[in-house]
Amino acid sequence: MKELESKKPTIEEFTVFCKKKGFVFQAAQIYGGLAGFFDFGPLGVEIKNNLKAEFWKKFVLKREDIFGQDGSIITNQSVWKASGHVDTFADLVLTTKETKTKLRADHFIEDTLNIPVDGMNAEEINSLIKKHNLKWKGEEFEEVKNFNLMFVTQVGADANKNSIAYLRPETAQSIFPNFKQIAEVSRAKLPFGIVQIGKAFRNEISPRDFVFRSREFEQMEMEYFFNPNSKCELLTEKQKKTKIMFLSAENQDKDSSEMIETTIEKLLKDKKLNEYHAFWLAEFFNWFTEDIGFKYENLRIREHIKTELSHYSKGTFDIDYKYPFGYKEMLGMANRGNYDLNQHQEHSKQKLEFFDEANKEKLLPHVIEPSLGVERFFMAILNETYINDEKRGNIVLNLPPKIAPYKVGVFPLVNKEELTKVAREIYEDLIEEDISAFYDRSGSVGRRYARADEIGTPYCITVDFECIEEGKDNGTVTIRDRNTTEQKRLKVESLSGVIISLIKGNLKFEDL
Ligand code: ATP
Repeated sequence: MKELESKKPTIEEFTVFCKKKGFVFQAAQIYGGLAGFFDFGPLGVEIKNNLKAEFWKKFVLKREDIFGQDGSIITNQSVWKASGHVDTFADLVLTTKETKTKLRADHFIEDTLNIPVDGMNAEEINSLIKKHNLKWKGEEFEEVKNFNLMFVTQVGADANKNSIAYLRPETAQSIFPNFKQIAEVSRAKLPFGIVQIGKAFRNEISPRDFVFRSREFEQMEMEYFFNPNSKCELLTEKQKKTKIMFLSAENQDKDSSEMIETTIEKLLKDKKLNEYHAFWLAEFFNWFTEDIGFKYENLRIREHIKTELSHYSKGTFDIDYKYPFGYKEMLGMANRGNYDLNQHQEHSKQKLEFFDEANKEKLLPHVIEPSLGVERFFMAILNETYINDEKRGNIVLNLPPKIAPYKVGVFPLVNKEELTKVAREIYEDLIEEDISAFYDRSGSVGRRYARADEIGTPYCITVDFECIEEGKDNGTVTIRDRNTTEQKRLKVESLSGVIISLIKGNLKFEDL
């Protein structure tokens, strides 16, 4: 298959493209929008739903050891006290002396001095500001302060300290308090996981890079509970041999962002992680490269340095994607130990211990938490598949068929009733078979192909006169492949079966 020439967009081009196609736009644009809030349009929501469905299929439906849930966004405030978010879920904020402009301190230092700042504390930031006499548009800064990122609201009509509530800043804390109940109703045995997809809210000091850092976003999170004294039976040889580009904590400590190629097995040997952590890191990395279609060279695994670790973490690895603005976190994977269950047990005064039948041991299980942001996944997959095809003169979104908003476009060659009637029937038959399709009869067929390419439609069907006239091609239509623009003829009655096989990857276009 001819490889499409890849010319990657800048973040500005990418943003314009997403808005133009109605994938994503500012929330309440007619009122000037609101920084950090976005709406997904008709095609954007389809892509987002497909990404979530793929995740759910892979990590819930196809696994006997993982169960789904959908927790409430607002919950008892004690959850957030127990989890540590009320006290510690904060970023450092710089405020200018006169205009009181607020900047996220680590981002400001990183952008101005071009040095890695992950995990820097207030004291270090203050001393860098003094040492380099840093200012913002000529203004000096006040002392750096902590800013809690949780949105606060009130439940019920009476405002008092008990009515305070928070919009959840992560979906994880909807899972931990349910751990016992879900284990019981699902008759789960260790190790097992609970997965949830849902909204999270963070009052980011400076939202930026389009939907990458927004104030309302979605997370796909898994809490995988295990007994740290038991052997992990999950890790396969293939997973151990998974090759990765790796940025170690040691290199970052030396202010270096040099990566090395290594394997999951080597990380294990170096005791950087335990086997459950290794299993999930390999599982997600391979899912991204093998099933979703990210190029190996566009992903890296970054180890968190000690000072950067979240309050709950015993070790964290990010899977970073190479966005137009550089490598940044798409998925975070922390070993949370039994910090959360311990905290919730202590604060709720309810026993959360679990009996591990295999080891005949009662314990508070430990947990590995893969956490993937839907918006960051969305941005990465669109960036990965965006091709400005100069020969064709249009953008081609080379989306995997299962992620594409429409699988098929159906066109009559020209807008004549004898053709539109057949095309309409084909379109209706396809959607009846649950194949998402669109019907388009306006403009030249070339224009319609270009429009289909731009929204990532893998296949287009065109009904021409050969289809309705006597002859060898009677009852057949053309099917065009997005990536090669190659066309083949197929019998109308075979269309849905062939398309389903093409989407599932059981059949290749060139073998038709
Ligand atoms: P960052 O360091 O970029 O602020 P984080 O380490 O705070 O991210 P986590 O707490 O690990 O992020 O959240 C898990 C995942 O949720 C991230 O990997 C990311 O995909 C997503 N996420 C977190 N914050 C945002 C945000 N403001 N906008 C969009 N997605 C986000």
